[in-house]
Amino acid sequence: MCHAFVNVSNGVILIKLVVETLRDRKADVGSVRRERRFELRGGVPCLDFVNTLSWRLTDRPVEYLGSYEDLLAWGRQAGLLAPDETEALSRRAATDPEETRATLSRAVALREAVHRVLSTTIADEPRDEDALLTLNRELSGALSRLRVAPAAGDSYVWTWERGGVDGSRPPLERPLWPMARSAAELLTSPKLDRVKICAGEGCGWMFLDESRNASRRWCDSRDCGNRERVRRHLARKRVSDS
Ligand SMILES: [Zn+2]
Repeated sequence: MCHAFVNVSNGVILIKLVVETLRDRKADVGSVRRERRFELRGGVPCLDFVNTLSWRLTDRPVEYLGSYEDLLAWGRQAGLLAPDETEALSRRAATDPEETRATLSRAVALREAVHRVLSTTIADEPRDEDALLTLNRELSGALSRLRVAPAAGDSYVWTWERGGVDGSRPPLERPLWPMARSAAELLTSPKLDRVKICAGEGCGWMFLDESRNASRRWCDSRDCGNRERVRRHLARKRVSDS
């Protein structure tokens, strides 16, 4: 949501632009703890995960993964964790704060590695071998937990190993598995050419451009697209008023 104020006093034109983006309003968890809401605009899970750091291209990026609970909330909202899995992981996290903190650090490191691999590819820069190593290390652990399970009728589905049901402790790194797999699938897919960085100033969010003529520019036209329209409007006004 954007508000533009134009005040004229003593011949001086003061233009104040207040931009309240959808993402930051929804991501604000406030003083009373409630589940953080994530904007899922990436098109694939790994890009939505990369976008858990906002305003990446500014000197004040906003971190949405402030806690392991945020990581669980992201996984559930992205449809990668079932509600009962989320609850089991939350209970486990409460009993093991040290490993929980370490797992959150791993998640952030994986996110940054995926971002690095993608951003160097988009910019046609030399590959970052360390970032690829981090991704492959997590991918190796993730794929060892991949299973085939019976589904409706005679069919089968890919699924992830579940903990906690038979009394075992659910693995805290569970939210990382689909993220690593999603990144590997995207990097090896022709869709890699369609990964873009939002044109919004400072935004830095990534998305998969699935528009027919590859013309998508914004993470969201109501957010960065709208800010750009306001910016252009004010620039035109400054020119016409001068
Ligand atoms: Zn954007």
